[in-house]
Amino acid sequence: MNTIAHWINGSPVTGTDTAPVFNPATGAEQARVVLGGTADVDAAVQAATAAFETWSESSLTQRTQVMFAFRQLLVEHEEELGRIISAEHGKTVDDARGEIVRGREVVEFACGLGDVLKGSFSDQVSRGVDVHDFRQPLGVVAGITPFNFPAMVPLWMHPIAIATGNTFVLKPSERDPSAATFVAGLYRRAGLPDGVFNVVHGAKPAVDALLAHPGVEAVSFVGSTPIAKYVHETATAHGKRVQALGGAKNHAVVLPDADLEYAADHITAGAYGSAGERCMAVSVAVAVGDAADALVEILERKARDITVGPGDRPGTDMGPLVTRAARERVENAVGTAAAQGATVVVDGRGLKIDGHEEGFFTGPSLLDRVTTEMDAYREELFGPVLAIVRADSLDQAIDLVNANPYGNGTALFTASGEAARRFRRRVKVGMIGVNVPVPVPMSYYSFGGWKDSLIGDHPVHGPEGIRFYTRPKVVTTRWPQRDRQVTAGFDFPTSH
Ligand code: NAD
Repeated sequence: MNTIAHWINGSPVTGTDTAPVFNPATGAEQARVVLGGTADVDAAVQAATAAFETWSESSLTQRTQVMFAFRQLLVEHEEELGRIISAEHGKTVDDARGEIVRGREVVEFACGLGDVLKGSFSDQVSRGVDVHDFRQPLGVVAGITPFNFPAMVPLWMHPIAIATGNTFVLKPSERDPSAATFVAGLYRRAGLPDGVFNVVHGAKPAVDALLAHPGVEAVSFVGSTPIAKYVHETATAHGKRVQALGGAKNHAVVLPDADLEYAADHITAGAYGSAGERCMAVSVAVAVGDAADALVEILERKARDITVGPGDRPGTDMGPLVTRAARERVENAVGTAAAQGATVVVDGRGLKIDGHEEGFFTGPSLLDRVTTEMDAYREELFGPVLAIVRADSLDQAIDLVNANPYGNGTALFTASGEAARRFRRRVKVGMIGVNVPVPVPMSYYSFGGWKDSLIGDHPVHGPEGIRFYTRPKVVTTRWPQRDRQVTAGFDFPTSH
């Protein structure tokens, strides 16, 4: 059986401790992944430390050229990488290609490094004195990433970290680890020197070793909120800079003046795409006033129309969940919702796909009359379950969104500019869509939620990514003139 190895200093490195990697569509174990510990992390950090010496001295042009070549390889291998992701995650190949494209956009942003890294210069701030600033890389930085976007989420991080002159150690999810190693091979072919990008596979022991390693300057984390809090606390206690993105419960608010067919179409795609395993998935639809009954009727029709099947079968809308445990958790949550008083309009439990009876499939579930006290509302289910909550007015809907502990994404469906303006100004959420259900920002903006969806204060990529992976220096310069002496004084220096 294939063993997925670490990638350290430009070569695969295996180990004896391994875990199974499943094909979620068949339920079969298809590979083993090595589980790294302190020694593997230390080897990767040492390789990255050595590589930093030369990589941080490489010119902007050299670094940009690597990014252009890497981008081209991502284009050429999109289908192949998409199939690798689909086979371990379960999402459809087209959906996987979509995440590669969105990740590639961050590489495109990094290709413009020469422009975004420009510092500023102030001439003659005092007589004969000029000031300029510039930014320098931190050193070795680490990324710890979730299973649900095995290519895109790491791509939010490493192109910017590497382009700005850092070296990188990635600890991807142990559930779908192959994409990370594949990307390491592409970087090598793009001309990236060995040791600049390293992959250590594993679970908590590998994470803990990274959080405590004195050679790691900064940690980027994306995953569930409890682990984001743990990573933030632990890594900051070790003196590291940390960005930690957490879980979500994203509300789509539908006003009665919205085009309900359009809203339901987009909410359905946003709720059930990737089997709901997206941090920006729509998990709650807030139906305002008399939009509710009509909306539920259309959502039901659309949920029943979804084709569930293996991710590599043409025509599949939605694949299986990532693990057997995830399917059990989601199906139990539907049962609990029914027991707590929700109406199960569409019940996805117990779905069997012919020829894939052991796969981790569950069908789309639609729950109506969900209230904020129910578990189905309070918990991040991370599966194909859409809960409908009813509200009397836009203001009540906004209060509901704001009372939720998460604040990742939200959307409003309306024909009213005034309502949209009120919504985007009052809502306590980081990423907002107006008639756009999954408002993932482009790579030249930054991605990040509020409240429990982002621990600390650093969103990823775009301008915030540049700031996170670099630190500023401000230089004050005087070239003394022989014909006009400036005398030193004991008072604190001020400008003249
Ligand atoms: P997870 O928190 O279980 O795992 C994330 C990473 O942390 C993995 O690399 C994992 O190996 C590691 N990890 C897990 N348990 C750990 C522990 N006890 N100690 C140290 N490290 C540990 O998340 P997941 O199930 O892989 O991904 C789904 C979650 O990620 C969802 O909550 C989803 O909302 C969130 N997510 C958020 C965003 C965002 O941008 N906010 C994006 C994608 C996913």
